[in-house]
Amino acid sequence: MQELSDWLDREAVTLENPRGLGPFVLVCDHASNWVPTSLKGLGLPDSELERHIAWDPGALPLARRLSELLDAPLVHAAVSRLVLDVNRDPSHPGSIVTRSEDTDIPGNQEISAEERARRVQSIYEPYHRTLDEVIEQSVARNESPQIISVHSFTPIYRQEQRPWHIGVLHGEDERLSRPLLELLRADGEFCVGDNQPYAPTDGVYHTLHRHCTRQYAGAGMNSGGGMSSGAGSDSGGASDSGGASSSGTASGSLAASSAKANPHTNLNLRSVLLELRSDTISSEDGREQWALRLERALRAIH
Ligand SMILES: [Zn+2]
Repeated sequence: MQELSDWLDREAVTLENPRGLGPFVLVCDHASNWVPTSLKGLGLPDSELERHIAWDPGALPLARRLSELLDAPLVHAAVSRLVLDVNRDPSHPGSIVTRSEDTDIPGNQEISAEERARRVQSIYEPYHRTLDEVIEQSVARNESPQIISVHSFTPIYRQEQRPWHIGVLHGEDERLSRPLLELLRADGEFCVGDNQPYAPTDGVYHTLHRHCTRQYAGAGMNSGGGMSSGAGSDSGGASDSGGASSSGTASGSLAASSAKANPHTNLNLRSVLLELRSDTISSEDGREQWALRLERALRAIH
C-alpha cells in the first residue's frame, strides 16, 4: 500500500480530534485544493486552483473550529476535488470531472482505467474507510451520533448572485435539518436555504448517504472493511464547490478500540450538510461567528 499512495506526496485523508467525546462527527469533503506534484496542477494555472472549482474555501477552518467547540472528531480529505471528488460515487461522472463550470481540466481528459483506479484506491477508499472507523467509534460511545458535513459555496455562480447565507441540505430524514432550519431562521437575520443552493438530487449527499444508512452485518464491528455498503446513491451534476485537504494522520489505530459488540445492526444516523456562502466565512471573525451560532443551534437540538 505504501507505493500506492506515494504519488500523492501525502496521506489522502486527515483525522483531527479522533478522541472527541461529543455526539457529533464532522466531515469536510472539499477541504483542500492540493494537487499531487506528479499531476502537474492538472494542467491548470494556480489561479484556477485557488478558485472554488478546486475546493471549498473557508470550509476547513470553520470545521476545525466546530470540532473544538463540539469536541467532535473531524475527517477531511487532503486532495482537491478536481483530482477526485470523494463526495461522488466512483462510478458517477462527477467523480473525476473533465470540466468544472466553464473550465476544462486538461489533466482529466481521457485518463486511463488504471489512472482512474489509482485515484479511487488511494483517495476515495482510504477517505471513506477512515470515516467508517470514526463513525463506528462514535456509535460505540454515543447513543445517537450525528454526522455534520461542512461545505462552502461561491456567492456568484454563472453570473448569478446567490441570496442564501447558509444552506441546510438534507435527504428524506429531516430529524436534524428541520429543527436546525427553524433555529437558524428564528431571528430573521439570515437567508437560510432549505436544500438550496444544492439538494441531494444534485449528487452532493453521497458521503452522508453512504455512511449514515450503513448496514452492519452483525454484532461485531469490522473497521477494516473498506468500501462496504451504501455507495452510489447520488446522481446529477457536479455542483457545489469543492476541494479536499491537508496532511495526514493515520486512523488505523482507532479500529482496535471499537471492537465491542454493536447493537446497531441497521444504522440510521441523523445527518445534515451545511453549505456556507464562502464570503461569509472568508475572515476569521466571520468564521468564528458562524461557528458559535452553529454550535449553539446544534447543542440545542441535541
Ligand atoms: Zn463542497
